[in-house]
Amino acid sequence: MKIVVALGGNALLKAGQSGTVEEQYENVETACRQLVQMAQDNELVITHGNGPQVGKILLQNETARDKTPAMPLDICGAMSQGQIGYILQQGLCKEFQRQNVERDVATVITRVQVDRDDPSFQNPTKPIGSFYSREEAEKFKKNSGDTWVEDKARGGWRKVVPSPMPSKIVEEKIIKELVAGGYLVIASGGGGVPVIADEPAGYKGIEAVIDKDLAGELLATIVDADVLMILTDVSEVYLNYGKPDQKKLGTVSVEEMEKYEEEGHFGAGSMGPKVNAAIRFARKKGKTAIITSLENAVKALTENTGTQLKSGV
Ligand code: ADP
Ligand code: MG
Repeated sequence: MKIVVALGGNALLKAGQSGTVEEQYENVETACRQLVQMAQDNELVITHGNGPQVGKILLQNETARDKTPAMPLDICGAMSQGQIGYILQQGLCKEFQRQNVERDVATVITRVQVDRDDPSFQNPTKPIGSFYSREEAEKFKKNSGDTWVEDKARGGWRKVVPSPMPSKIVEEKIIKELVAGGYLVIASGGGGVPVIADEPAGYKGIEAVIDKDLAGELLATIVDADVLMILTDVSEVYLNYGKPDQKKLGTVSVEEMEKYEEEGHFGAGSMGPKVNAAIRFARKKGKTAIITSLENAVKALTENTGTQLKSGV
């Protein structure tokens, strides 16, 4: 089987960790054990989130801007793809050797094209970077025209950027050729670097964040994967999540899941886009989407655990 695995943020950096390189290597070790086990019998393509990492890169750029020019969000995104791809390459190679599997790993810095008319550009919602005081936020806003919002719960102001739908993976041909050549490919990290078509030629990087699960769905479609596996920190999707009557979802049909999605069971910006990506993928004939935890990844494949979406079930 061909499987696209989308790793959640916690696979690389857990809540409460400061983000040292040692912590990241340690976290990746757990992920790599599962991934290499899956790669024994399956073709794997890996994608991943980058929220905590790109947040730290932005902070480094922000605090050092008097010493060296700060880079825009698209470049910070590309930096995070390189950083996380490298850490995963290191972890995967080590685990492949340990398990006596011969496989080469490649990270593709991936640009993902979005439509310049995407409605999200009129309504930026995705918070990025550090928290600032009202005065600091006002100053940034005046100088740049960016949108800033207050996060009352966490006590501060944050910049928000658009979160457009992915429409095309620019590096599609390269990714497909690497997959066909038997390489384990890491692509579209952090949802890809968002670009729009430039005039008269090429692409222009923009200030936006593409949801990594929706970009993962596009990646799974272009490589013609059988399974889209979204790995996060819960082993199942729940109805009435966090309430006394919460209920785990096992194997469900696309139609059933669409109904639950409409009823609003899934958190916007967390489980919502995962379920949406899973529905989009499993709507296609013969495709399965799985949402489960990293620890449960192998088991989900062998014992059908986790939340599984199949068309016509
Ligand atoms: P990742 O970093 O893997 O993308 P997120 O934190 O964005 O993970 O999304 C996973 C989280 O979604 C879970 O930890 C849980 O708190 C939250 N969540 C929201 N709604 C649900 C639901 N209906 N069922 C399960 N988890 C949900
Ligand atoms: Mg997330």
